[in-house]
Amino acid sequence: MNLGFKSLQLNVARRYLWGALVAALIPLIAIAALYDRYSANLLNNLISNRVNANLEATAARMNNFMSVQVNRLENIVDLTDTAAFFQSGPQAEVSELLEDILRLEAESSDIYAIELSDIGGTVLKVFPETRDIGAIDGEETLPWIQHANAELLGPVIPQNGRPGWFRISMPVEVNQQAVGKVSLRMRLSSLTEQAASLIEPGVYFPQIVVFDRIHLTAAGTPAVPGQVLAKSRQFFPGWRIHLVEGHNRYQEPKTFIRYLLLLAAALSVLGLVYMFFQMSQKLSGHLQPLSHGARAIANGNFNVSVSEDAPGELGVLARSYNRMRLQLGKLIDSRVDVERRAALGNMAAGIAHEIRNPLTTVSNTVHGLKLAEQDKDRVEMLEVISSEIDRVDATISEFLNYARPSVPQKEQLLVRDLFKFLKTLVAATAHERGVKIHVSGESNLRVFVDETHCRQILLNLALNAIEAMPKGGHLTLRAYRERDEAVIVIADDGVGMDAELQAKIMRPFFTTRANGNGLGLSVTYQLVEANAGVLEIESELGEGTTVLVRFPMTQRQKAQVS
Ligand code: ADP
Ligand code: MG
Repeated sequence: MNLGFKSLQLNVARRYLWGALVAALIPLIAIAALYDRYSANLLNNLISNRVNANLEATAARMNNFMSVQVNRLENIVDLTDTAAFFQSGPQAEVSELLEDILRLEAESSDIYAIELSDIGGTVLKVFPETRDIGAIDGEETLPWIQHANAELLGPVIPQNGRPGWFRISMPVEVNQQAVGKVSLRMRLSSLTEQAASLIEPGVYFPQIVVFDRIHLTAAGTPAVPGQVLAKSRQFFPGWRIHLVEGHNRYQEPKTFIRYLLLLAAALSVLGLVYMFFQMSQKLSGHLQPLSHGARAIANGNFNVSVSEDAPGELGVLARSYNRMRLQLGKLIDSRVDVERRAALGNMAAGIAHEIRNPLTTVSNTVHGLKLAEQDKDRVEMLEVISSEIDRVDATISEFLNYARPSVPQKEQLLVRDLFKFLKTLVAATAHERGVKIHVSGESNLRVFVDETHCRQILLNLALNAIEAMPKGGHLTLRAYRERDEAVIVIADDGVGMDAELQAKIMRPFFTTRANGNGLGLSVTYQLVEANAGVLEIESELGEGTTVLVRFPMTQRQKAQVS
């Protein structure tokens, strides 16, 4: 049961701590998740906005590039020298003007070659003349586009050391009749490299896509189709730019941030767990003594006190525990006292009835016998019987006093008068024992007490003092004022008491004397209390005993108010 109590207490502490931990973690995780989403969205938005603008700009640039080439082609086709060349038959020669123009155009780095071919497609002339254009493999399978009066063939990817290319051709017409064809064989890379500015290393890269069939890199080499992030409009029929995700590295910055967040979260969880563990240890460290103390009280031991230097509420709890422990002890003691007194009261009533009445009869009879008796020896014997009967009666009275004390009738009394009365009462006994009596004190000091009670108190204490000095000594009666109290001192230099003895003397029927009844001090204590006084006993074995009785000098403020 005790173990259960302990584990319950620690469970509560631990449960609260775990609760707090979870409460701290939930917002942390929520924030991490929100941040993750937020940053992902932010990145996506940033990318898509910037990318779309760039993509369209590039498409426009490529469109422009194509227009420039078509224009260039038109200029050549429109020359009269071009028409003349095709009209003058198979063995015709290119005029000087046309040759100069074609050579000049062919010098452009975008152009691989300029071809002049007949209607059947047979190439008649190539500029520059040194260019080996070779045969076109699989011409039928190449994409072919007719746009306005230009046609576009290709692209052809780089092969056998030849660069990649595409061809823009335009017919040469005389009187609406095609007589031949001029073609610009363009370097493929000249077009594709316009998209190079779109490359974002590790994030995405551009692909030039023709009819969704041919995929080219910005360098004009074949590309592997990938996850498309964005598409441009067609910059030439069937030709577009795609933005393709770069090797999943597009996710990398996001993933890195996620890992970082995860690490931070894990670290804070560890930190929190450690912190909470420490706190829980500390808390149970402070609670353990309290639990020990509570167990001790449960076992009836009220002497286990708890250190009060725990922090905050725990300190308050420890102080409360200690106070509770003392008060509980007192309460139980006083309850025991009340019960004991009630039992004694019943017993006293019984004794008064059962012993006192026959005793009175015996006493009266003895008295009658004494009056009638002539023999002196017998009279003496009858007197012994009488005095013994008186002794028994006195003890019974004292016992009744203890068990059922009378209600005090308080009045103001001069301490001087009380001392005078006491001195007359004990003078004979004191003299017998060789005890000298010293009286001192303020002459008009008064106490507010019941007179009979006070006399009884002083007599009990004075007799105890005299009995503690079997070889004679000094009995000191002193009285003085301390704040609003009168202090009466009864001191002796007799045998004294050690601590062990002092702890027991207040118990009823405790005595160390052969003819004592052990009721003197318990009655005294009770009477002092009944008269709102305080009894203090200081004693040293072999040195003597000093008893202080504090009484109010006048009626107490509290009593006046009520
Ligand atoms: P009794 O006097 O009948 O023994 P008390 O209650 O008056 O009973 O006292 C109880 C015990 O306390 C005494 O037996 C004695 O041992 C001790 N005692 C009381 N007063 C003194 C004192 N002044 N000096 C030494 N011992 C004392
Ligand atoms: Mg006594």
